Amino acid sequence: MFDGFVDEANITVEAGDGGDGAVSFHREKYVAAGGPDGGDGGKGGDIVFLVDDNLNTLIDFRYKRKFKAERGENGRGANKFGRSAEDLVIRVPRGTVVIERESGRILADMSGSEPVVIAKGGRGGRGNAHFATPTRQIPRFAKPGFKGQKLELRLELKLLADVGLVGFPNVGKSTLISVVSAAKPKIANYHFTTLTPNLGVVKISEGNSFVMADIPGLIEGASEGVGLGHEFLRHVERCRLILHIVDVSGSEGRDPISDYEIINRELRNFSEELANAPQIVAANKCDMASDEQVESFKKYIEGKGLPFFAISAATTQGTAELVAFAYKMLKDLPPLKAFEVDPLPLWQEAEASQSKFEITVEEGVYFVEADWLEDVLRMADMDDYESLQHFQLVLKSSGIIDELERMGIEEGDTVSVCGYEFDYVR
Ligand code: GDP
Ligand code: MG
Repeated sequence: MFDGFVDEANITVEAGDGGDGAVSFHREKYVAAGGPDGGDGGKGGDIVFLVDDNLNTLIDFRYKRKFKAERGENGRGANKFGRSAEDLVIRVPRGTVVIERESGRILADMSGSEPVVIAKGGRGGRGNAHFATPTRQIPRFAKPGFKGQKLELRLELKLLADVGLVGFPNVGKSTLISVVSAAKPKIANYHFTTLTPNLGVVKISEGNSFVMADIPGLIEGASEGVGLGHEFLRHVERCRLILHIVDVSGSEGRDPISDYEIINRELRNFSEELANAPQIVAANKCDMASDEQVESFKKYIEGKGLPFFAISAATTQGTAELVAFAYKMLKDLPPLKAFEVDPLPLWQEAEASQSKFEITVEEGVYFVEADWLEDVLRMADMDDYESLQHFQLVLKSSGIIDELERMGIEEGDTVSVCGYEFDYVR
């Protein structure tokens, strides 16, 4: 949907694993054997994306590409739960689209201010307190924490500008953006386009702001016949409002009315949509212009039914009124269209990975491989009968036993699970 100054980065994010459940038994002075009291592990930290309007590029992601949230704390005795880990917050410039690399699926469009969970931390494993039954009073096993979700992502920054500045070169577009925007864009850091996108956040009052973008390529390229490429312009195609700057003093030897008409013609050539966007006209360099120059241009613009402002970007005269008016107009205009997002199912995905396994047969031995099974094994005491029973239950419920049967395993064959060998018994 949106095209823009595409700035890209590839990163890997990994949510935290859940903490392990504890194996513990109640202990009290003079009390011989207490029941199981191992608490559950804490949840691993999520990977959360958040818009930061002080950022304008994805350049930071060139230096840091791996993000891993903390693991949840392990459970402890006396039914103490492990503490959940803090979420890892990744700050991105507004307009960053988060894409899963493998599928090309758009997970999030970071255009709003709400934090978005991109990868979910694993749940904590259950402590052995959960596994006591009348027939199994001494469970010497607990559950490992679930793995955190791991994703390979592509980030694409597609700038979103509410207001697009158009006008001939040297009319004062850059000057205007520099005097009305609170946060100056880090222009020098922008290595990704040959042209520098000049972008500013215009703060009207606390919590009320809009984004203004200078569009240097538009007329400068068109009028000079330089192939600056329409690609550069595409992102402004969906500007909500056009701010048309004209040098009313005619300091470059041109006529304001003809400037205005030429620019509008160029806009229409480029995009009907752009040409039809609501427009405000600002007569700049009033400090150098005569009253007659300003008045006659004003009459012409108002005759077209367009809002007109006389300003001087250099002295900031009239600029506050201009941006306040633009802000008011934006309030009644439709919002910028967002991307359609297709988030991943979070928990389900993490849990589904818990049942993936691979079985290979070599010289009559059935090798079962699965990351998560290693965790299950790590948490169980294989010399303990009840632990072993529990482990067999896991093999059954995860479909491993069925798969072994399907592959033709027979009584007495050897099964190797993550290095642990046993004879198959039906
Ligand atoms: P842009 O090419 O449209 O971005 O124009 P710039 O902002 O780079 O300005 C071009 C020149 O006009 C610079 O020398 C500015 O200092 C000057 N300029 C911009 N605004 C004003 C203004 O309001 N009054 C006067 N006198 N000069 C201005
Ligand atoms: Mg400029």
